[in-house]
Amino acid sequence: MPATFTHTFDTPSFKGTTTINTGLFINGQWVDPVDKGTIDVINPATGKVVATVAGGSSKDVDIAVEAAKKAYKTSWGLKCPGSTRGKLLNKLADLIEKNIDEFTALEAMDVGKTFQNAKAVDLTGAIGTIRYYAGWADKVHGKTIETNENKLAYTRHEPYGVVGQIIPWNFPMLMLSWKLGPALATGNTIVLKPSEITPLTALRLAGLINEAGFPPGVVNIINGYGNTVGEAISHHPTIEKVAFTGSTLVGRKVLKASSESNLKVVTLELGGKSPTIIFDDADIEQALKWASHGIFFNMGQSCVAGSRIFIQEGIYDKFLEQFAQIAKGLGDAAGDPFARETKHGPQVSQTQFDRVMGYINSGKEEGATVHVGGERHGEEGYFIKPTIFTNCTSEMKIVKEEIFGPVAVVVKFKTEEEVIEAANNTSYGLGCNVFSENISRALRVAHQLEAGSAWVNCAQATEIAVPFGGYKQSGIGRELGQYALDTYTQVKGVHVNIGLKL
Ligand code: NAD
Repeated sequence: MPATFTHTFDTPSFKGTTTINTGLFINGQWVDPVDKGTIDVINPATGKVVATVAGGSSKDVDIAVEAAKKAYKTSWGLKCPGSTRGKLLNKLADLIEKNIDEFTALEAMDVGKTFQNAKAVDLTGAIGTIRYYAGWADKVHGKTIETNENKLAYTRHEPYGVVGQIIPWNFPMLMLSWKLGPALATGNTIVLKPSEITPLTALRLAGLINEAGFPPGVVNIINGYGNTVGEAISHHPTIEKVAFTGSTLVGRKVLKASSESNLKVVTLELGGKSPTIIFDDADIEQALKWASHGIFFNMGQSCVAGSRIFIQEGIYDKFLEQFAQIAKGLGDAAGDPFARETKHGPQVSQTQFDRVMGYINSGKEEGATVHVGGERHGEEGYFIKPTIFTNCTSEMKIVKEEIFGPVAVVVKFKTEEEVIEAANNTSYGLGCNVFSENISRALRVAHQLEAGSAWVNCAQATEIAVPFGGYKQSGIGRELGQYALDTYTQVKGVHVNIGLKL
């Protein structure tokens, strides 16, 4: 019988006890990994181990895929009406909501998010996403197509069967909901791997799957490392589709695994280096707030972080001064994610801390100027002060590569044409943010930027009903909205002869 992990929170934001099963969730049951692997979970605010959970291997993936295949054939997929699937998804959302503070506390402890943000964004967003897709579950349908009088032709949007899902650590619950929602609504069964760095909320959610009423094997959650469980999912011959969110580097591996195995369909949500463009005629006060949110939200650990900030020359000095004040203020409010006054938490891990500090050092070495920040905060945990670099050139690593930390590079520009070219000078294409009170200019620029999401006079403001995904090397396919349903269904054209004689 797998172990459980119990933790009592006694914080200003949440007091209560949580108990989580730390095993693998396969076929509606908690089991130990075949090879008895374990993974330590670290609280990034302290650097200390808070829990030890199971770490699976390819053997566990094989067992989970078998369970998912059986569930698909016997009790899910075409065997379960959409309205029932919707009901179960709604029940799951209700159960998460009932325990929202406990989920939030786990997310704050595991990722280092402030409790307030984790509740308002991650948990509220996850619950909303599952409900949104519950609503779609009985509205997935094809078309009839006119061909000729002797034929009835129509399309069916059918599930793939068993889908694999691999998610990152930056928004564990939110990414979980973006994956589970559309896949279950369309009738697929799931083998999902959370990030080994942040498995706690996925395990807590697994504990609600039976209570919500999902048949055994419909949702299987296998914690484990990328090079074991992740690779096994991407190579598995029975998995017909893999949805991956993570780095571009690993995304390439998942795509390669597909071509080396069964040509499974792959959708990828990858990295970014999104531009934020602020024209002289922007509402400066609002642009400042949004641009700061755009880069510093979630400690910069967001795929659509607006990490390249282009400011038009007429407002450059004034904007930079106020932007630096906001960054400094956030750094001053760094600390315990559970304290009510905290506005800035730690990076998720020692590895991420080292990676971000490595970029900060490379920026200094390449001649950029640290305008504010550029160093760690405090003595323990993985805190980095919000950082702004000036005097940057397009060749610098900090301008070209995704840092995934609270680090903005600021660039002065003169003309619309010049800034569009500079903003598009990247291999990424996830998001872009444009600030101008001249709506014609704002839309003209937004339309010319090469990115899957364009935010006008706001930043990093996703909506459940609006598709999200990348141009260029930021991804393949779309999540959220009705568009996500297409990535979890395959279309069958059915031809019925109603009169043609041979
Ligand atoms: P990562 O690519 O290192 O890991 C993502 C997931 O892939 C993890 O679960 C990991 O265990 C797994 N993995 C690692 N190696 C694997 C392999 N060989 N085969 C299969 N799976 C493997 O990314 P991360 O560090 O967890 O997250 C940060 C990255 O994710 C950033 O680049 C960020 O931009 C991106 N991201 C993108 C989006 C989006 O929607 N576009 C959202 C969140 C994060």
